[in-house]
Amino acid sequence: MFKNLSWPFLSAAPAAVFFDLDDTLIDTAGQLVELALEDAADAMRRTGLRADRAELIDFLRSKAQAAQGGNYFVAAAEHFSQGCVDASLSFVANEARTAFFAADVPDLEPLPGCRHLLLQLGERGSSLFLITAGNPKTQRRKIDRLGFADTFHAIAYVNSLEGETKLPVFQRILDRFALDPSDCLCVGDRVVGEIRDANSLGIWTVRMSGGEFAAVEPSRPDEVPDFVVADLLELATLLGIDLEQGLGEP
Ligand SMILES: [Mg+2]
Repeated sequence: MFKNLSWPFLSAAPAAVFFDLDDTLIDTAGQLVELALEDAADAMRRTGLRADRAELIDFLRSKAQAAQGGNYFVAAAEHFSQGCVDASLSFVANEARTAFFAADVPDLEPLPGCRHLLLQLGERGSSLFLITAGNPKTQRRKIDRLGFADTFHAIAYVNSLEGETKLPVFQRILDRFALDPSDCLCVGDRVVGEIRDANSLGIWTVRMSGGEFAAVEPSRPDEVPDFVVADLLELATLLGIDLEQGLGEP
């Protein structure tokens, strides 16, 4: 899906690339949610719930993936309650919920090809910016774990919990570095987020499909990205970069 055939970046590197983090450079939906569910399952079993660990995690995962809302820790406590001998169901569920939201950010590795792609872009002269939305404290921890601090020209934290958007950050970077938006590229997964914000400024946009917000499709013309790619390899191909040789590297 694309809206413009005059794509300029096959032959010339973008002056700047604005990367999103979650579900763009790292597998947030897969890697982080799964670990938080494991922490929740362990907390439930510590209360005395005699559930098989793997079965309990499977149960929680299926409820989380269904994304039907509700407190699936209560559902899990009820489902496995025959084995619950010394704890009330609400206590079990609360312990699980607390553990889920307190889950630490684990050692993270970016998606395949990420480091090689960033290196290649830097060598071709692109300025690289990381603009990430969420809880800034959590996002800082992820970036620390990834060792990304020296990889980007600048990293910006957008506190989406307080309603901030990426739009003013894009504008500030364009102004500060005297960048022409038509020489710049934004890569992200959220059409109602960085894709719309970047489109509104005339920045080229590539959407990474998949992730937590994969089901959210553009509902307005300014939410339609110039390209949709399945992974960073496809992005590299769009940028005239061969990533295959870098895939075996850490
Ligand atoms: Mg994202």
